[in-house]
Amino acid sequence: MNTEGRVYDIAIIGGGVTGTAQAYVFTHFVKGISNVLLLEKNENVALVNSNTDSNAQTLHGGDTETNFSLEKALKMRDAECILGAFLEKYGEGAYRRLYKMALAVGADEVRLIKERFKMIHSYYPTLEFLGRESIARIEPKLVEGRNPETEVAALFRPNGFAVDYHRASECLYKEAMKSGKLDAFFKTKTRAITRTDGIYEIETNNAVFHAKAVAVAAGPFSILFAHSCGYAGEYTILPVAGNFYRTRAVILGGKVYTVQDPMFPFAAAHMDSSINDPSAMRIGPTADVIPFLERRHWATIADFLKTGVISKEGLRAIFEIIFRKDEKEEKRKVLRFAGKNVVYKIPVIGTWYFLKKAAQKIIPTLRYRDLEFARGEGGVRPQLVNMKTRALEMGTGKIVGDRDGDKLVFDITPSPGASDCLRNALVNAKKHFVPFLGSGYEFDDKKFTEEFPGAREAFGRIA
Ligand SMILES: Cc1cc2nc3c(=O)[nH]c(=O)nc-3n(C[C@H](O)[C@H](O)[C@H](O)COP(=O)(O)OP(=O)(O)OC[C@H]3O[C@@H](n4cnc5c(N)ncnc54)[C@H](O)[C@@H]3O)c2cc1C
Repeated sequence: MNTEGRVYDIAIIGGGVTGTAQAYVFTHFVKGISNVLLLEKNENVALVNSNTDSNAQTLHGGDTETNFSLEKALKMRDAECILGAFLEKYGEGAYRRLYKMALAVGADEVRLIKERFKMIHSYYPTLEFLGRESIARIEPKLVEGRNPETEVAALFRPNGFAVDYHRASECLYKEAMKSGKLDAFFKTKTRAITRTDGIYEIETNNAVFHAKAVAVAAGPFSILFAHSCGYAGEYTILPVAGNFYRTRAVILGGKVYTVQDPMFPFAAAHMDSSINDPSAMRIGPTADVIPFLERRHWATIADFLKTGVISKEGLRAIFEIIFRKDEKEEKRKVLRFAGKNVVYKIPVIGTWYFLKKAAQKIIPTLRYRDLEFARGEGGVRPQLVNMKTRALEMGTGKIVGDRDGDKLVFDITPSPGASDCLRNALVNAKKHFVPFLGSGYEFDDKKFTEEFPGAREAFGRIA
């Protein structure tokens, strides 16, 4: 490959859904950009956490995620609107429209979602509050066999999305290629990013590339690049893997989430039909801390050890997070939670425990023999740990490298990173890369809003 002398406007490291969304936005909507580089270590886009079965296939819109603050919910409403608009135009085969539900079981959870409905319903015109009878009308299996004394209620929205993020990435990539401005190199692993005279040198296993600015969208590996460029030294990563179970015993028509504990926003199981096999339901994910930056890739244990977790500060932060008592309930909730997820891993007993603790909360009549462990499914959520405050920071993380003329953005993307991919790409383009690149570069607001008129308002909220 001859790239000698070529200086790309922007290089993107990582071809998951975060990287391909940026490739699409940079090549289509930034005036002045003439060439963008995409480097991916695998042979195709989105084969890691954005792969079809690595995640829960949900386009989170903020309505049925009971742990989101109003601010976060509205941000995700915008994310859903923007990615939804792209999918409806260019994403044939990458998504399905279906209902989304947050099921509350027991008086406390019912109270919680009643309050939540009051707080958010004016922002979601199609959101409904359902009592037991209405739930039974829509999905009788959610009520059948349930103790009639147990209160149940649900938040329900008929028009959500299930997404195959692998295919969505392929669509984003395909559209980016159509611009004629994207050079993509697969089986090309970035080893180092350095800067000389204001230009970034990107060393890979195949060649050395040059760019004026770099977007690092390498999932959990983004933190290592941030560290090597002198940023985010106070952060490390806790890789939280998620496993799924499958069943063909009960088929639901939509996505049924349960009420999330705000302390573990990634943890409460949900159930929906698999996007690539609607005759099977997926239940999960579980949450399981593993020492890998990439699931089932043993070599990435060495990468995990480089994240700073095995330093005095890292170990102290992890220890405190695990053993800290919850302020309200005076319980060591993280320890209990971790314990529960360890039990899930024990053969036979684990499946039985998952059935009792998670699956039957959704479908009370589900039996042990109905559940099958979905081997090979589920990726890693790179949860950020702040070693200074010794706290887990939930949600996606963005590190902007703009010191001393640097032009770097590192995205670290636990859930709901896939849902936010296109909104995030717009944020990166408008707020970071256009100012980084300076005069001669401009975001083309008019082109974007003409392309996606339905996403005009959501786009307008990106400053
Ligand atoms: C169990 C589970 C359930 C989830 N459910 C949802 C959900 O329902 N909805 C949702 O929105 N999100 C969900 N998520 C999160 C979602 O999967 C991620 O936010 C999203 O896939 C992140 O995309 P990404 O492109 O940033 O990272 P990835 O998909 O991990 O892509 C990173 C890419 O970078 C490449 N790369 C890494 N290092 C290098 C290097 N050195 N050189 C070149 N390339 C490199 C990798 O090969 C990979 O292709 C879930 C995650 C898990 C684990």
